[in-house]
Amino acid sequence: MEKVGEKVTEDKELTRIVVVGGGYAGVHACQRLAKALGQKSGVEITLINPGPSHTLLTDLHEVAGNRIPPEGVEVSIRKVFAGKAVNFVEDRIVRIDPQKQILYSESHEYPYDYVILACGSEPAYYNIPGMKENALSLWSLKDAERIRRHVREMFRLAASEKDAVKRQELLTFVVGGGGFTGVEMIGELADWVPDLCGEYGLSEFDVNLILIEALPTILPNLRRSLAERARRYMRARGITVLTNSPIVEVTPEEVSLKSGTKIRTRTVIWTGGVQTNHEVQEFGFKCHKRGRVRVNEFLQVEGYSNIYAVGDNACFMTHTGELPALVEAGLQGGACAAENIARQVKGEKPREFRPKLHGVMVSIGAGYAVADIAGIPLWGLPAVAMKHLVNLHYLFGVGGMWLVNRYLRLEFLNERGTLAPVFKHLTVKTSVVWLVILRLFLGYQWLVSGIHKVQSGFLVSGDKLVSGSSLVPMGPGTPQFYVTFMEKVVFPHALFFQIIVTLGELAIGTALILGLFTALAGLGSIFMNVNFMLSGTGNVWFLVTSLLMLGGAGRAFGLDYYVMPFLEGLWRERRPVAKQKSATA
Ligand SMILES: Cc1cc2nc3c(=O)[nH]c(=O)nc-3n(C[C@H](O)[C@H](O)[C@H](O)COP(=O)(O)OP(=O)(O)OC[C@H]3O[C@@H](n4cnc5c(N)ncnc54)[C@H](O)[C@@H]3O)c2cc1C
Repeated sequence: MEKVGEKVTEDKELTRIVVVGGGYAGVHACQRLAKALGQKSGVEITLINPGPSHTLLTDLHEVAGNRIPPEGVEVSIRKVFAGKAVNFVEDRIVRIDPQKQILYSESHEYPYDYVILACGSEPAYYNIPGMKENALSLWSLKDAERIRRHVREMFRLAASEKDAVKRQELLTFVVGGGGFTGVEMIGELADWVPDLCGEYGLSEFDVNLILIEALPTILPNLRRSLAERARRYMRARGITVLTNSPIVEVTPEEVSLKSGTKIRTRTVIWTGGVQTNHEVQEFGFKCHKRGRVRVNEFLQVEGYSNIYAVGDNACFMTHTGELPALVEAGLQGGACAAENIARQVKGEKPREFRPKLHGVMVSIGAGYAVADIAGIPLWGLPAVAMKHLVNLHYLFGVGGMWLVNRYLRLEFLNERGTLAPVFKHLTVKTSVVWLVILRLFLGYQWLVSGIHKVQSGFLVSGDKLVSGSSLVPMGPGTPQFYVTFMEKVVFPHALFFQIIVTLGELAIGTALILGLFTALAGLGSIFMNVNFMLSGTGNVWFLVTSLLMLGGAGRAFGLDYYVMPFLEGLWRERRPVAKQKSATA
């Protein structure tokens, strides 16, 4: 067996380096190898991957939740390495013979001098009865497309389902696993539900989104304060989060929890466990938990100085434990393995792998995220922005501007992307957009009128209403009942009513201008106008404009666009649990 640091292929004319797996770690390793050894004669670099694309797994939930189209997560490997000293082969490696130094697919043999194993992970089902058979997984583009089709199908079926219990079953979506994949998946569904409900004529209140985690907390990789923020945000979006709730069985129509709770559903998306790709597990190397191959400090597979394992395939121990299965760990591992092979080819000693992870980011739909970057906690839009920046940085490194352009187009110019709220102001709510002008006009009129009353002493002197200084209490056409009301109720308490009217005008004006609680302000505006009309000073056009405010005029370019869904979310917060209880009864 070769010793660490020794050059394996001393006398051969050709040094063959094979990278197995075109994911984050494999592609990055090849880029580094091409840079370090591409110009060197007698070196051949080959990348083997089952399909033509590098799949951006971290964005799969966006495809599953219909935010971006499938092509948004596919990067053509041929295009990435066009003109570079990397041969690309579409094949799947099923066996390795470390003694003969040959990799085998079903039909081909690939001799190697050095190999990097970067085949990634696959879902682990932990022998939970029915999980593998009945749950959807999210670990490939096919998985994501399947979820997308399935979710849409559930809405389609629910739209024609007369039985309320069955409809609820169809509209209950369970995500198993509260890690970042599960949280991101349920977040995408929460974003998609309003569109689906609109499309199929269903009520959002009939949809249940449930995230189930076996541990006491979600997002264990994040600091607690951020995990708590994520949890609060999900609640506000109407997502039920169940922790301490191991799933013990899944059938086509039901999920059973250890607590005995049963949830009727046709959709379980399982993100609760990963293990190393099964082919790598069967290569015969020493494996650790979840089948990850044991590697030494240089990322070499224990016992072999010319076989490296990186990314999700490697079990690399740091002083704080096993290096987590994250993109950044894969990229750094790929770079280190490539550098070490280059060193070995040149007859130098490899360097130790010293991973330095900078943090994690978790999106919950297009408009919210939590992130822990270099010890700095971020949430909301700054975290969303950071996630986009990191993605752009990665894509630029892999493919340059064509990938950056595509990302920007799909993420921002797409109707369901991060800028979707702006698009929604301009598209879905187009009719409401025109009301904005009326809303601002009406608000301005009320505000100016209120300010004028304040300036003319309506809040301090009780004689204004009676004298009719700014507001005429009764005109010639005022009906008798209103005259009586004014004389018996209003005039004796004139200052009180002056204050009410003045503050009312200020409040209505401000609310309409901000587009906050617009319907309420509209009602107030109608009430005040009716009173003014009865006293002979009202304006019928004011009344018509006020009526239009009841139709959601604040939802376009107004705070109601954000506040109303938030309040609806708060109101719904306890509802799904209650519904589930009844479903289990
Ligand atoms: C939905 C989802 C969301 C995620 N979100 C995040 C996140 O936000 N942040 C984060 O850091 N991590 C995230 N992860 C985890 C992250 O994607 C993985 O840690 C990362 O992909 C590991 O990189 P890798 O190169 O080891 O494997 P992969 O990127 O999985 O690449 C493996 C490649 O090997 C190929 N392959 C498999 N078997 C063979 C074979 N037998 N022969 C040849 N090729 C083979 C595969 O086709 C694939 O192209 C997420 C994962 C998922 C599924």
